[in-house]
Amino acid sequence: VVYLDYNATAPLRPEALEAILTAFHRVGNASSLHQAGRDAATRVDKARRQLADLLNCHPGEIIFTSGATEANNLALRAAYARGGRLVTTAVEHPAILETARAITVGASDALVVLPVDKDGTPDLGVLDAALDRSDVSVVSAMLANNETGVLTDLAPIVKTAHDAGALVHTDATQYVGRLPLDLAELEVDLLSLSAHKFGGPQGVGALVVRRDTSLPYMPLLIGGGQERGWRAGTLNVAGIVGLGAAADTARRHLEEEAIRVAELRDAFEAELIARVPDCVINGGGVARLPGVTSVTFPGVPADAVLAAMPDVAASDGSACASGAPSPSHVLLAMGRSRDDADSTVRFSLGYATSRRDIERSIVAVASAVGRVRAVLAATA
Ligand code: PMP
Repeated sequence: VVYLDYNATAPLRPEALEAILTAFHRVGNASSLHQAGRDAATRVDKARRQLADLLNCHPGEIIFTSGATEANNLALRAAYARGGRLVTTAVEHPAILETARAITVGASDALVVLPVDKDGTPDLGVLDAALDRSDVSVVSAMLANNETGVLTDLAPIVKTAHDAGALVHTDATQYVGRLPLDLAELEVDLLSLSAHKFGGPQGVGALVVRRDTSLPYMPLLIGGGQERGWRAGTLNVAGIVGLGAAADTARRHLEEEAIRVAELRDAFEAELIARVPDCVINGGGVARLPGVTSVTFPGVPADAVLAAMPDVAASDGSACASGAPSPSHVLLAMGRSRDDADSTVRFSLGYATSRRDIERSIVAVASAVGRVRAVLAATA
């Protein structure tokens, strides 16, 4: 099977696996004061530094969580509790959009969802109008979209939001470990990430809260006061050291991997367009993550294409909401029809994708689309 679903989850990096196995072989609760506990705490400290080095932030700004879903919940709930409205974009992951809806329910006017253009870029005019009232507590905009890979230019959003006294949160889950990120330059206040998107294990992630951010104390999990009281519960030492090792490896290879993956993706798209000329690359005209191709095969249902190429692991819409029969809210927000949204396949490449993977998958995809089209024509 050719695995082209890195945006759903990336394969575990060997360095992460080794770190996890080592951690599992040792005993120790990172809160215990004896030597075994201190050893566990030392391993967690190392992972915190490794992640801080990837993001160029201070280790003390990191709160380890169970993933980006939890980090997004924590960030929005605390930031919104400052008082004021919550602004986000129409193309966010459900962990943002559904949380935003849930916490503003009943408060009319409290939630502003920015529309996006055909490329998935949020409307800054609507943002300006919302910020004009200067009662916005937080603006949350993702750095890279999970379905299309389209990047958001956060700098102007950060500037106008900060000028209006609002905090900025970014869901950087698909961006971290794939493109260089410098929190000293990107002056967001809060950032969410998940280890398994960059080669760490599933079920662990982080919320970064910049040092000078004033947030009402609003943990989701209350108990033993771990993570400076922001996330109680015995630390997931093995998961955290796996995250740290993946962050360290990603940081050391970031630029070369980004270039190599972008070349493979571009070759994949060029071949795709050559073999299936009427396909449409979503977000194809704007800056995207290196490894993502969201492609619409007009009139050809994505689930049929996927079923016709069992040796290629890709996804229709976003695997994050798998089983959900509704069409992609991201593509609808970009002005696509429901039919087009249902005819869209996402291929996502990553650090271990090879040229051979691309060659094999291209043949499989072109053949699958052709066979589905033939069946549709025969039964029309
Ligand atoms: N945000 C984005 C943009 C994502 O792609 C994902 C994963 N699909 C999440 C948040 C949630 O991450 P997790 O499932 O690891 O909590």
